[in-house]
This record gives sequence, structure tokens and C-alpha cells, in this order.
Amino acid sequence: MRRKYLWIGILGLVIISIFFAGAQKTLAQPPKPKACVIDIDGTIANEKERRAMATNPDGSTNWRKYFNPELVKQDKPILKSREVLRWIKQKGIKIFYVSSRETTVLEATKWWLKAHNFPEGEVYHRKLFARSMEYKIDTVRAIQKSYDVIFGVGDRDRDITAYQTCGIAAIKVIESSEEDWIRVKNEIAKSIR
Ligand SMILES: [Mg+2]
Repeated sequence: MRRKYLWIGILGLVIISIFFAGAQKTLAQPPKPKACVIDIDGTIANEKERRAMATNPDGSTNWRKYFNPELVKQDKPILKSREVLRWIKQKGIKIFYVSSRETTVLEATKWWLKAHNFPEGEVYHRKLFARSMEYKIDTVRAIQKSYDVIFGVGDRDRDITAYQTCGIAAIKVIESSEEDWIRVKNEIAKSIR
């Protein structure tokens, strides 16, 4: 009699484990594609001349001038960043260019990226009146819904805070620096290992 119950018990356990194994298989989602977030001004574009041109005598910024599409197009590319971004792309990581530039210069930015042969990626700009850090956090979170965002690179503390808030590796690069990208590449290599 006892042996009969034992067998029923074993059979029950087998049925339950088969059921759970099947459920796990159907519920398991395919892994999200890998991605990264890259800031533009001071990170891959040297905007020092544009900023100097947009600085008023009292030291304040003339934002209309700063976000003049024709001036944006004249920014100098940080060549070492381009080399590293190409390497990232080769590793199968999708690039999202997330910048606090206003949406009014979106086309100029896309033109600039193409003109300087930066690897393809999606470009996001800040809507008027949105605050820079909140905008970056919201954008990274939106990307995270479909992508496994591994790291972000930016030249400002607010970039780093935004990336950290989203739980991704936050890599700070010295503003408009070519040489610092050698160190940044090492940091990226560590985060994608
Ligand atoms: Mg920047």
C-alpha cells in the first residue's frame, strides 16, 4: 500500500517538473541586442569654436547661436572617438547618439555624423525646455526597453549621473580630448567582456 503511494508521488513529481521545464522554455525571452549610448558635444564633436562664437561679452551663452545648424556642421570631429566607435560597432553593439542638443539641429547632426564617417546609429536630441539630465535618463530608459544597454560615454558629470541612474557602466571622457579615448577604449573593453 505504502509503495503504491510512493510511486504516485514520484509520478506526480515527474509530471510537475516536465510542466515547469516547458513553461520556462516558453517564458524565456530571447536576449536583447546589445547597445551603448554616446554623448556628442565634447565627446565625439569638438564644439569649442562654436561655443566661443556663441559666448556673449558678459560670459553668458547665446543659445540661438550655439544651436545654429550651420555652426553645428562646422564642429571638428574627435577622430579617436570615431575609431573606437567603429570598433564598438564591429563588436555588434548598436550605437545610440544621445545628445542634449536641441531637436532643431537634428538634421545638422545627422549630416555631420555622415560627413565625418561616424558609424551608423540612432540619433536623439533634447526637446525644447527639457532638462538635460532628466532627458538623458528618460531616453536611456526608453532604449533599455528593447536593448541591453551596456555602457554610456559622456564628458559631463550629468552624463555620468544619468548613466549610473539607469544602471549602465558610466564612462567619462575628458572634454574634446583625442588621447583620453585610448583610456576610454580600455574601459569599454572591460564593460563588454
Ligand atoms: Mg557633452
